[in-house]
Amino acid sequence: MKLIMLGAPGAGKGTQAAELKDKLSIPAISTGAIIRNAIKNGTQVGIEAKAYIDNGQLVPDDTMIRLLGERLSMPDCVNGFILDGFPRTIAQAVALDEMVVDLDYVISLEVDDDVIVERLSGRRECPKCASTYHVTNNPSAKGDKCEKCGEPLVTRADDTPETILKRLAVYHEQTEPLIDYYKKSGKLVSVEGTSDVHSTTVEMFRAIGLEIA
Ligand code: ADP
Ligand code: ADP
Ligand code: ZN
Repeated sequence: MKLIMLGAPGAGKGTQAAELKDKLSIPAISTGAIIRNAIKNGTQVGIEAKAYIDNGQLVPDDTMIRLLGERLSMPDCVNGFILDGFPRTIAQAVALDEMVVDLDYVISLEVDDDVIVERLSGRRECPKCASTYHVTNNPSAKGDKCEKCGEPLVTRADDTPETILKRLAVYHEQTEPLIDYYKKSGKLVSVEGTSDVHSTTVEMFRAIGLEIA
């Protein structure tokens, strides 16, 4: 399966991509995680991308398209993949259509802006394995440590109130037009993303014809 997760920042793309990854045994590729790793490792890409991320702006298309192309050419992608956070612009979607001709579904997670603000304000991330939690909605069983690897959880640098609002504005302006783009290609599946994590997974699986475990 070749899947795309579409939705506002905080809609639950990463959370649901992890469920699909476990179910389908294909990689979940987060372009945000790729960029955050590059920043952590001090690579040239990371140095250039940092100012964009910190300001809630998108990293330029040419950089993102190149990074994604490199990732998709890795051997673990041969049986499919789940994209979380790419494409985010029409230019990226057009480039993806040139790289991948047999997309199965584009899953659009629909969540209102007020819910987004609450979700991103409470998001906590594991800096080691990138697992994502929420202080009240989806807490780690190990409190302020990662349930999977024990690492202390952190708040992402771009999950501040000011940057959250900027990212939402960027989403509406540059990414939301992709909903129409994929509607036209017949690949779009809309999933109500406001209910709890498990109910959303159930609805999403049903929408793309998967059995829930
Ligand atoms: P979120 O989980 O809030 O949707 P991501 O982890 O996907 O955020 O992305 C964090 C940041 O990384 C974005 O705000 C943007 O600066 C950058 N980024 C990630 N993916 C892309 C992309 N496809 N195009 C441009 N910038 C991106
Ligand atoms: P995205 O990848 O779209 O930016 P995340 O998967 O990181 O979104 O989720 C954003 C925050 O909301 C996280 O703190 C996550 O634990 C929480 N969350 C995800 N899905 C739900 C849900 N259905 N109900 C409540 N909280 C959720
Ligand atoms: Zn972890």
